Amino acid sequence: MIERARAAGVDYILAIGTGNGPPDLEAAVRMADEYPRIFATVGVHPNDAPKCAADTFTNLERLLGHPKVKSIGEIGLDYHWGTPKDIQMRAFVRQLEIAIAARMPIVIHTRDAWEDTLDVLKRHWVGRGLDCVIHCFTGTVEQARECLDLGFHLAFGGVATFPKAAEIREAARIVPADRLLLETDAPYLAPVPFRGKRNEPAHVAHTAKVIARVRRVTVEELGRQTTENFERVFAVGRLLKTENV
Ligand SMILES: [Zn+2]
Repeated sequence: MIERARAAGVDYILAIGTGNGPPDLEAAVRMADEYPRIFATVGVHPNDAPKCAADTFTNLERLLGHPKVKSIGEIGLDYHWGTPKDIQMRAFVRQLEIAIAARMPIVIHTRDAWEDTLDVLKRHWVGRGLDCVIHCFTGTVEQARECLDLGFHLAFGGVATFPKAAEIREAARIVPADRLLLETDAPYLAPVPFRGKRNEPAHVAHTAKVIARVRRVTVEELGRQTTENFERVFAVGRLLKTENV
């Protein structure tokens, strides 16, 4: 799968989060340890918030010292599955505080919780001079503008290629070049022509093609820009393209 990603022109992979959640926080770190071009985030996903124990956040803080850990995420709010809101909120705010103390960027997951998510970010995050990525952005153009005004980055996945997703493509069109990222949300949300199948990093090339088209740039230019954005946001030193890793 990693070889296919390299062949498709994917320079970096950010392995997200904690797998099944606490007590294990290192699912992504284990992957990053094995491959030079894979980096990791650590963080308690809102739907895993009820699994937090007394030592969860001290373990999380300790993992931030790992050289391949580049961000805290996915963190945020998800009102889709009925996870108690107060528990999610506590885990979210606590992790924002940890990220601020560690001067780390964050990757945000938000589902059916837009207003509360933005409200928490405005109160506990904005103005600290740190980067925030809204992962798998599927909102409206207006919501995209709101995020951009707050200085956030938007990451687009396979949904942007779906025929009915014109509004998401319009959002992807208006994002300044230096605020745009591409992602999979693997194993979910594979882009056309793999829709409904298992998603994987190589498929990002198909999302890139569609977004390059609406932005009227070449896919090479989009790839160069999103790679540069990745290196900047996640403080990753440039790996040589020819380096076979
Ligand atoms: Zn998510």
